Amino acid sequence: MKLRLSGREAGLDFQNVHLVPGRGKCSGLHPHFHSLSVTVEGELSERGMLVHLYRLKDAVRALCEELDHRVLLADYPPAVMQIREEDAGYQVEVNDKRYFLPRQDVVRLPIGSLNVEDLCRYLTARLADALDPILDRDRLTSLTVELDEGGGQAASLTVALRG
Ligand SMILES: [Zn+2]
Repeated sequence: MKLRLSGREAGLDFQNVHLVPGRGKCSGLHPHFHSLSVTVEGELSERGMLVHLYRLKDAVRALCEELDHRVLLADYPPAVMQIREEDAGYQVEVNDKRYFLPRQDVVRLPIGSLNVEDLCRYLTARLADALDPILDRDRLTSLTVELDEGGGQAASLTVALRG
């Protein structure tokens, strides 16, 4: 059986601002309205359950809150984006522009870009870790995370839980 939490309907979403190296619209600061949907698949427990829904929701919500109303910075190659850390925040040089971003507004992500694919892979790994204590790997076979970044664009990734 499969159980799915639909990000938009369940309020599992986060708004953020980012910029990407290059030309065009995305080279300036711009917003995204992300949502995270999660599907768990496996066999039911003796009590007829796959997973405690509220615990699943709590874990996804905690991750969304970490990223909500923040500026996301990825580790792009230094040739295209330089980030200098200062006491109060980050000096970012990109696209022939210089930004100063206060520390409390920024989440730095250990990923090579903010493409929806890279962000989805990162969030799937984070969720798999966060859900580890509540997912019964003897019964559950896979976890699928779908990241919707708005504009009809989404990426999804399925990871095996068993084995
Ligand atoms: Zn973007």
